[in-house]
Amino acid sequence: MNQDKTSIVPADRRPSLIVIGNGMVGHHCVERLIELGAHHHHAISVFGEERHPAYDRVHLSEYFSGRDAASLALGEAGLYADHGVALHLGEKVEKIDRTTREVVTSRGRYRFDQLVLATGSYPFVPAIPGSEGDARLVYRTLDDLDMIRAAAANARRGVVVGGGLLGLEAANALKSLGLEAHVVEFAPRLMPVQLDAEGGAALAARIEALGVGVHLSKATEAIVAGENGHRYRMRFADGSALDTDLVVFSAGIRPQDALARDCGLEIAARGGVVVNDHCASSDPAIYAIGECASWRERVFGLVAPGYRMARLVAERLAGQPSELFTGADMSTKLKLLGVDVGSIGDAHGASPGARSYRFIDERSASYRRLVVSEDGKRVLGAVLVGDNSFYDPLLQYVANAIAAPLAPEALILPAGEGAPALGIDALPDSATICSCHNVSKGTIREAIDQGCLDLASLKRETRASTGCGGCSALLKQAFEAELAARGVAVDASLCEHFSHTRQALFDLVRLEGIEDFDTLMRRHGNGGLGCDICKPAVASILASNWNRPILDPALAPLQDTNDAFMANMQKDGTYSVVPRIAGGEITPDKLIVLGEVAKKYDLYTKITGGQRIDMFGAELHQLPSIWAELLAAGFETGHAYGKSTRTVKSCVGSSWCRYGVQDSVAMALRLEHRYKGLRSPHKLKFAVSGCTRECAEAQSKDIGVIATERGWNLYVCGNGGMRPRHAELFATDLDDETLVRYIDRLLMFYVRTADRLQRTSVWRENLDGGLDYLKSVVIDDCLGVCAELERQMALVVERYECEWANALSDPEKLKRFRTFVNQNQGDPGLRYVRERGQRRPARADEIPSIVSEESA
Ligand SMILES: Cc1cc2nc3c(=O)[nH]c(=O)nc-3n(C[C@H](O)[C@H](O)[C@H](O)COP(=O)(O)OP(=O)(O)OC[C@H]3O[C@@H](n4cnc5c(N)ncnc54)[C@H](O)[C@@H]3O)c2cc1C
Ligand code: SF4
Repeated sequence: MNQDKTSIVPADRRPSLIVIGNGMVGHHCVERLIELGAHHHHAISVFGEERHPAYDRVHLSEYFSGRDAASLALGEAGLYADHGVALHLGEKVEKIDRTTREVVTSRGRYRFDQLVLATGSYPFVPAIPGSEGDARLVYRTLDDLDMIRAAAANARRGVVVGGGLLGLEAANALKSLGLEAHVVEFAPRLMPVQLDAEGGAALAARIEALGVGVHLSKATEAIVAGENGHRYRMRFADGSALDTDLVVFSAGIRPQDALARDCGLEIAARGGVVVNDHCASSDPAIYAIGECASWRERVFGLVAPGYRMARLVAERLAGQPSELFTGADMSTKLKLLGVDVGSIGDAHGASPGARSYRFIDERSASYRRLVVSEDGKRVLGAVLVGDNSFYDPLLQYVANAIAAPLAPEALILPAGEGAPALGIDALPDSATICSCHNVSKGTIREAIDQGCLDLASLKRETRASTGCGGCSALLKQAFEAELAARGVAVDASLCEHFSHTRQALFDLVRLEGIEDFDTLMRRHGNGGLGCDICKPAVASILASNWNRPILDPALAPLQDTNDAFMANMQKDGTYSVVPRIAGGEITPDKLIVLGEVAKKYDLYTKITGGQRIDMFGAELHQLPSIWAELLAAGFETGHAYGKSTRTVKSCVGSSWCRYGVQDSVAMALRLEHRYKGLRSPHKLKFAVSGCTRECAEAQSKDIGVIATERGWNLYVCGNGGMRPRHAELFATDLDDETLVRYIDRLLMFYVRTADRLQRTSVWRENLDGGLDYLKSVVIDDCLGVCAELERQMALVVERYECEWANALSDPEKLKRFRTFVNQNQGDPGLRYVRERGQRRPARADEIPSIVSEESA
């Protein structure tokens, strides 16, 4: 950050900077202005017509699969307010008065010294007679999606007009709302801008196979009253017709340039505010960025170019050196209705002399086209349908003008056909790895120099791969190559005693049926007794595989302090006792027992965020008798001490709540009892909410389950804590059995493949291929391991035994619960004070007076 606090201008004298539009690009500009400290020198105001603060429009469709406005919001909450940026939401700017230098809204006039137009675009709806109401829906904002959802409530069939990128997303959305979806396209192929004829045909075949109707070369002439029980009928120019209950238009976008047009700024022939290489309009005090700007007669309908414009304008306004805008690559890599689609550079082979190679696999409806220069030495572009694994290397050939191999066709042949691998080493430092955030290979190198030695911190620092996420595999390659290049062997050894990764050790234990540490050390270790790293890690691996009681003689020496005493040690050396209260549900009788036990042993009691009751202050020798009383009342261990399943929090759900659509308590109990014995690389937290109001906060958990009218939505890999991470939507509308099956697979896959002490969130962030890969493993079984994962989970579930019950039945195991060897007494050094009716450990400054009172 560049914040020169000594020269901060007093607030009332600061020049006024107004940003119109709080969309993706406007927001990025404000973020960058704040980063550069421009808010100290300018009074910044932002006007947004929408009622929501800036949100991730690129992932808008996820609104239909469980995400809400809050989870799609961009940037940190409170960023604007914390930095004195005034945000006027739901306040449309109606006019720009360039003579008085004011913007006019329905609520007032606001003076500006400099203005940034970031008004984006609006969906184009062709003038078709009869297109109104539910036959004139669009797909651009959260409010648009609410209208589509409302229209879909009483509908059976929906039609999208427009077979481009957004049209196919809209069709997918209709499908996810349970409608029969159709796409009507004017051109003779789908995605006419990005794909050639064969690519479009391959895509149409894949999409039709998914049950979406594709109608090409259709010009809609009118929309009239429907027949056959449908609300509307679309009449096409060729005489054919299609009945439907709603129509979504996705026939292209137009720059939102009305304000600029009205105030006399220069407008491009095909729309858009004309800007120069600094993104300044024909009025040097007014900039235009994002989809409302036209640079050399081009409007960029992607977020990456908009972000670049936003950054350079922010730098200019902050008085920093800024680059010039030099255009943008419009290559796109998408998954549409589950089908990989990629378009790179000159996809149509429009460059003079361009030659093409094509690969078609009719069996899988995959298609690839490679466009090269006349002399075959340069790759100019490509089209990919069905397999985007070719995208990253091809993009690098095009973007960095890397010489094509002698037989360029090998670049699109299936693996094993001699395709030359393009190593990351071949890329120059200037090569862009992440185009959303403009992160080059050189920037990645610098970040590693400055100490980013794991992928998660590299992403955090550079923001690479945090936009559309398309570059995650390339980023990982670049990261590992950089470490290797500076001799930092990416040493994956667990510790000095085992030259294997945790994952490899897990597989060895499983394959060879190893059930104890000594055998593992003998067969695969480097000798020695082990250390604080490998012993608990191996204990966890053995437990996840075989689920034997952790205090069995072969396992007990491996456990760390908390596991060794099956309780969490507190700051004064006493322990906490946490019985399981599955799903947060407890009978009055059991509540009374907890009260009685706490009273008898004078334990401090506290209700936790995980919906159970912790009792603090138990001395080691008291633990067995406390637990004996709890077990007699039907409690069992809550595993609060282990790297294992903790709690499944739940709301009260449909049994009591008038909003509930499923029985969240019953599901929480089922999940908690199923996974309560599972040992894992780190603790696991779950929650189940009975409806989308989400009272159980499931989206901040490793496993979050939210009820829908049709079943359950599953969210994965979230956490609270120091670095909160929102869980990601993994699958929707699952029935009970499928939900449990997916959780079985996902948790076992995590348990098998994560590093030691890696929470699901970090594991997921480092997972090559990201969420899509995880889905393909768990849902599509792309690795063919799901049956094995399920078997393994079944074994863990079957072998569950309360660890405290097991320990209490064995006098040998109980011997370790003594505060002093050979004595069964407590620790006389412990001192307490009473506060709010309970005791707590005395602070250091309180101890002298307690001691003098005792000796008086
Ligand atoms: C469903 C969908 C999927 C997409 N997928 C991708 C993708 O995969 N990759 C990609 O690169 N891009 C994608 N895009 C495009 C991407 O979202 C846009 O490029 C990006 O949002 C442009 O940002 P912007 O700020 O210029 O415009 P916007 O995000 O549209 O923001 C403009 C804002 O200005 C406000 N505004 C307009 N006029 C006024 C006024 N007079 N007063 C106040 N406020 C005003 C608007 O209400 C709007 O909120 C997708 C878009 C959609 C709709
Ligand atoms: S999440 Fe829904 S069902 Fe559960 S308590 Fe809240 S409103 Fe009720």
